[in-house]
Amino acid sequence: MTATYQAGCHCGAVRFAAEMADPKAELYRCNCSLCRKKGIIMKPLPQDDFTLLHGEDHLSLYQWNKKIAAHYFCKICGVYTHHRRRRDPTQISINIACLDGIDMPSEDDIAVINGLEHD
Ligand SMILES: [Zn+2]
Repeated sequence: MTATYQAGCHCGAVRFAAEMADPKAELYRCNCSLCRKKGIIMKPLPQDDFTLLHGEDHLSLYQWNKKIAAHYFCKICGVYTHHRRRRDPTQISINIACLDGIDMPSEDDIAVINGLEHD
């Protein structure tokens, strides 16, 4: 059973919906040079389960290195909302802290992936 969760950046310019069974499952941090500076907790979704509701004009795109992954953030408030994954470009990882009303997960529920070796 999946449910639709509403989410957005801090200022509200960017809003998205995420279809998922358990927002606390499959959470990860990444130790690559970008993610470690962002310090975010992410959750991967099949791209069809991610819907940008509004704010496309307010998204900035950041790409680096091989320019496969596409990292999006709100150009008004600076909050990273999601990115298209390099290790599987059919997936979108979302910033789990963008979900409306989410309790921040315990560190025990968060895997750390070795993106550093992917740099
Ligand atoms: Zn914003």
